[in-house]
Amino acid sequence: MTEKMTIIGSGPAGFTAALYAARANLKPLLLEGFQSGGTPGGQLMTTTEVENYPGFPDGGISGPDLMQKFREQCLEFGTTSHQEDVTSVDFSRRPFVVKTDSREVESHSVVIATGAVARRLHVPSEEKLWTKGVSACAVCDGALPLFRNKDLMVIGGGDSAMEEGTFLTKFASKVYIVHRRDELRASKIMQERALNNPKVEVLWNSTIVDAEGDDVVTGIRLRNTVTDEEYSKPCSGIFYAIGHDPNTKFLGGQLELDDQQYIVVTPGRTYSSVEGVFACGDVVDKIYRQAVTAAGTGCAAALDAERWLAEQGVE
Ligand code: NAP
Repeated sequence: MTEKMTIIGSGPAGFTAALYAARANLKPLLLEGFQSGGTPGGQLMTTTEVENYPGFPDGGISGPDLMQKFREQCLEFGTTSHQEDVTSVDFSRRPFVVKTDSREVESHSVVIATGAVARRLHVPSEEKLWTKGVSACAVCDGALPLFRNKDLMVIGGGDSAMEEGTFLTKFASKVYIVHRRDELRASKIMQERALNNPKVEVLWNSTIVDAEGDDVVTGIRLRNTVTDEEYSKPCSGIFYAIGHDPNTKFLGGQLELDDQQYIVVTPGRTYSSVEGVFACGDVVDKIYRQAVTAAGTGCAAALDAERWLAEQGVE
């Protein structure tokens, strides 16, 4: 049997694409992968409270609970789902072929929503203190009570570090940007915005050795990259802002990617470089990276794919 629409990925983009496709009676196949952090559901599976997804006014909802609701809703309308990583695709023929370790699927259209993974530094206490002060998303976690009126650290020197550092000043008493060199990578305008903020201070030539604390973060161990001197500084939060890696390796170079390996789509649409293959969510987005923007483009991909299928006479 040839599927009408196969959706790869299980974060807000993939589930929303599946919901729209299912409600359009396309009986989508959803291949929920494990690429973003070991569990289907994407990056929200590793966050605690999500307070910026609209519709949850009473203190938000936990990331895993939100993803469970997304999953239930798209299954309820007739999505078939398998929790398997896609290992390879063949977009050189139609119907397209999508392979996992246990099945080979033929599909008239494919929606890719495999997301991106925030880079981590894997310092010794990172796993123990993850969501207890160590985070890779200031916008997701910065407003939590744990970080209010506290000194916070942002690791990185790019646009994300500037943006996240500036954002965190809304809640923090002080934000230290920890950068390994003596020159920032960030664009001039983003640098100025961050550095002009009186709550921001840059710790130049500095790198994290470890997070300190037993139950929650209470400090950071730093190393000066010029002198090699190590020292500790009290803080309540450590935010990684050292970039993301989009999950595009399984595509085997069959779609056009940009220089950072994100899928290139037609501006304002979800069309990839191969007709009939659509892309949405964080695997195309290095600017916004929010659950709500991913869900929005997931919807757009399903609508683009539905219209394209109708033009091909597949209904
Ligand atoms: P990025 O530009 O790759 O910067 C990553 C930063 O992390 C760099 O300063 C890098 O240091 C540092 N870093 C990387 N690995 C590290 C390690 N192991 N230890 C310590 N530091 C490490 O990533 P990004 O800031 O996430 O930006 C990615 C893209 O998105 C860029 O094109 C950016 O312009 C764009 N972006 C745009 C906006 C916006 O326009 N609003 C916001 C965010 C991001 P070095 O400099 O020493 O390499």
